[in-house]
Amino acid sequence: FTPPTNIDLKKYIRTIPNYPHEGILFYDISTLLRNADAWQIASARMAHGIAAWQPDLIAGIESRGFVSASPLATALGCGMIMIRKPGKLPGKTISIDYDLEYGQNCIHIQEDAIKPGQRVVIIDDLLATGGTLQAAIKLLRKTGANIIGAAALIELKNLKGREKIDVPLFSAITYN
Ligand code: AMP
Repeated sequence: FTPPTNIDLKKYIRTIPNYPHEGILFYDISTLLRNADAWQIASARMAHGIAAWQPDLIAGIESRGFVSASPLATALGCGMIMIRKPGKLPGKTISIDYDLEYGQNCIHIQEDAIKPGQRVVIIDDLLATGGTLQAAIKLLRKTGANIIGAAALIELKNLKGREKIDVPLFSAITYN
């Protein structure tokens, strides 16, 4: 359905200071997910934002990215794949290490998750520095996937994560 544009979804997102580290303002989407109308509108905005790209597959980044990605796959009639933390996926996987603000991280996908040339859109709940999404794009490209775009429910504009992303990027809710 065409989502209404006059609803302020920020009302449904709770911010929690100093979580999970001192100095981080955490954007908590739990309060958005809990509200049936707000969550339906947020998902529809995401689906609307990426539909024209005509993906074959939606790839969600563990774990709030799964929650954001799954309704999009259903709405757009796509398959869905899971980008996961180490030790969570059975069978052969491929992985990439990347730097976080504090320390390092690693993400995996199953080796046979994507057929070469498949059109994939990557989804996460929130774009901050862009490091996670950039790593996910690199990882999926190792399979020969055609990454046609990425989307996040929330974009923190002042961190300029968008500048690291070399594919079209849609975000449903932005903060400065
Ligand atoms: P980044 O790699 O810096 O773009 O961080 C994005 C990832 O970290 C996403 O998977 C988010 O879920 C999480 N994240 C980073 N910053 C925040 C924040 N301020 N509030 C909630 N989640 C965050």
